[in-house]
Amino acid sequence: MGYDDQNIFAKILRGEIPCDKVYEDDYVLAFNDIAPQAPVHVLVIPKGNYISIDDFGREASAEEIKGFYEAVSKIANDKGLASDGFRTIANTGAHGGQEVPHFHIHILGGAVIGPMVAS
Ligand code: AMP
Repeated sequence: MGYDDQNIFAKILRGEIPCDKVYEDDYVLAFNDIAPQAPVHVLVIPKGNYISIDDFGREASAEEIKGFYEAVSKIANDKGLASDGFRTIANTGAHGGQEVPHFHIHILGGAVIGPMVAS
């Protein structure tokens, strides 16, 4: 199945739907999650049309991958999360509980994050 350009993050990237922007550069857009699960809960999405971390890892260029992960680190540091730590999550597909089919990394921090997998 191909990329669905009507997914909500694609609409945010095109400026059709607003977001609470945290950071933007040539490679990523980052914004606060609409339903935060931690004091800091930022979503980082690539500007390219990638469905999942699997699609991104297989199809993105080295430049896109480098730009993406550099932005994740920059945002975590800018938010003051690096010293105490934080969690990144990339839900993938049905078993991974991915709701929005545009690759995104959740950055969660600002407090001790609970168990890695909820029971
Ligand atoms: P996932 O299950 O990894 O696909 O997570 C999708 C995330 O997107 C959830 O944490 C939602 O709360 C979040 N979300 C959905 N719509 C929006 C939106 N319009 N702005 C910000 N976050 C959103």
